[in-house]
Formats: sequence, C-alpha cells, structure tokens
Amino acid sequence: MRQIIKKLVFPLVLAITVVGCNRRGPAPVTGGFSDQELQQFTALSPIDAHTHVFADNPEFYPMLKKLNMHVLDILVVDDTNESRNSLTKESEEAWELVRKTNGHVSVCTTFDPYRFSQPGFAQAAILQINREFDKGAVAVKIWKNLGMEIKDATGQYLLPDAPVFEPIYRDIAAHNKTLIAHLADPSSSWEPPNPDSLAYLYFKRNPQWYMYAKSHPASKERILQARDHILEGNPSLRVVGAHLGSMEDDFNQLGQHLDRYPNFAVDLAGRMPDIMMQSRPQMIAFITRYQDRLIYGTDLEIGFGETGVSEKSAMWEENYAKNWRFLATGDILMVRGHAVQGLALPQSILRKLYRENALHWFPGLLGDLH
Ligand SMILES: [Zn+2]
Repeated sequence: MRQIIKKLVFPLVLAITVVGCNRRGPAPVTGGFSDQELQQFTALSPIDAHTHVFADNPEFYPMLKKLNMHVLDILVVDDTNESRNSLTKESEEAWELVRKTNGHVSVCTTFDPYRFSQPGFAQAAILQINREFDKGAVAVKIWKNLGMEIKDATGQYLLPDAPVFEPIYRDIAAHNKTLIAHLADPSSSWEPPNPDSLAYLYFKRNPQWYMYAKSHPASKERILQARDHILEGNPSLRVVGAHLGSMEDDFNQLGQHLDRYPNFAVDLAGRMPDIMMQSRPQMIAFITRYQDRLIYGTDLEIGFGETGVSEKSAMWEENYAKNWRFLATGDILMVRGHAVQGLALPQSILRKLYRENALHWFPGLLGDLH
C-alpha cells in the first residue's frame, strides 16, 4: 500500500515542484558541463570506479584529461558476448590503455570461472591474478555468470561462495586487494514478462539472462546470500558490490547490509537514476549516514575495436554532468520523465563519493600506496 501511495503522491509532489520552479524561473538543467560546473567538478580530481574500456581509442584520453578524471577499468569474462569473451585480449588492451593514458586508468582484473571444474583451477587462477597484481591491478571482479549461468556437475547453478573459489578470495585478501562483486542483476530477470518494460526488450535480445524462464533458477535472494557468505567468511577481504550491490529496490536492505558488514561498500554505477527517483530527504539522510561506503561509478563502456567514440564522449560527459548536478547542486533535472531536485550535498561528502572512498576501498588505485 505504501508503495502505491508513494507512486501516486511522488509524481504529484514533483509536478507541484516543477510548476513552482517554473513560476520562479529555473527550468530543468540539461547538457554537458558549464564552465563553472566543470571547474568545480575537476577540482575534486574525480574517480569513476566502474568502467569497461576494452579499446584503445584516441577520443577517450582527451575526455579524461578535460574532466581531470581517473577511471577504474574492470575486466569481465562473458562467454555470451563477443566483445568480452577473451580475458587475454581484454587484459592486453587494458594495460596498453594504462600506459597510454599516463596514469588516468587503473585495472580491476578477473579470472575465467568457466574453467572451474578443471584440475588445478584455483591455483591457475591465483597465478594469473597475482601476475596482474604485480603489474598494478587493484581489484578482482566476479560476475553474474556465477549464480545465473554456469552450472555445476549436478546441474545446479554454481554460486559465488562455492568452495572452489575460496582460495582465490583468500589470495585477494592476502594481497590487500579488493573483490568487486556484480551479481544477481537485474531484479526483473526473476519477474514475469512485462511487455511494457525496457527489460522486456533486453531479455528478448539476451534470453540467457532471463532467469524467470529457466527451470530451477537460483533465486536472487539465494545468490545475494552467497555473496554475504563470502563477506562473513572473509572479514579481512574488502568487497565492493557493483550497482548498489544489486539492492537498488530496497535501500533499507542495502543499509542493513552496510551496517552488518564493515568490509562491504557499494558503487553507484548504472543506478544513479534509481537514486534520483527516491525521496530527496531520505536520500540525503542515506548518503550522509553511509558517506564512507558509497563509491561513484558509471559503467561507461567501450567494446573491442569500437569506433564513433567522439559522439559517445559527448554523451558520457552529459551523464557525468547530470550526476554531478544531482549530487552537488539543487538544480531541477528530468529523470525518467519526472522533475527531481538535486541533493546539494556538502563538499566533504562529495569529496568522499568522487574520490576518497575509491582510494580507501581500492588501495593503490593511483599507482602508489594511498
Ligand atoms: Zn559494469
């Protein structure tokens, strides 16, 4: 019932807000950074802690330079996606990018979980990961193919807390590196088809991720419990949950997790619109309370050999600008057809979201021991 009231009342309140604002003048702010905004943004030396850049593209570096931005480039092995199915190629491209961008890029490596049943799997994965650590990788990613794709010998979905992965998690902790966990996503994967939703089109094109249509899928809850099991069993392992730890549907649940697991933080990548759609006072209170545990990121992506990046870089810049306005100013923005007001967070919190938390949760991110 509360949900229904929220759904009815929220747009009304926003509509009144917009009408009120229009009377006073300010219209929704759109587009890239103004000169003044750019100055404030670049002064933070911002970090985007969630990107996937698998192509050496000459347009990318100038954008990083202009925004004074450092990015964490996250590798992922996905055997269902041509531009993400070769770890060797991804790794080579990423390290090439690190060299060419003169310190603007860091690497989060991964391992190939599809080999989990091969003899000596964990040892081989550890050797490969350690080689990447030696080059300067600051983290290791596990992905939603654990829980949603790969099956064990008995036909059950292989979960991220399977004992075969435990030596890898211990190795990451022993090297004082961080585990990034992108699991059980999106929620609509477990829901009946809704032809009116964007997810419907996505699952038509990517049926491999539609768990509702699978026989005996692992539930979203079960997969997130497996992640929690890793957090409990490895208290010295830092874990960053990608995309708000896949808990964007329930900020209370997210808060409870952050309270329960001091070794857990989350990034905001791809979930800024979800944050923007929450009640403004509640979001200010949430971010203020968990200001040390939230890390800015976007999920910006450049696939193998991708061209046309100059158009994309304008789009990315607009995305960075919109997120910045929402977090740093009281401007009115249009989000999913609704007008919302920015949170106007204080500088001390903006510095944490955009920089200090990334440096804390990913030690060595800038190539030294921050
Ligand atoms: Zn991502």
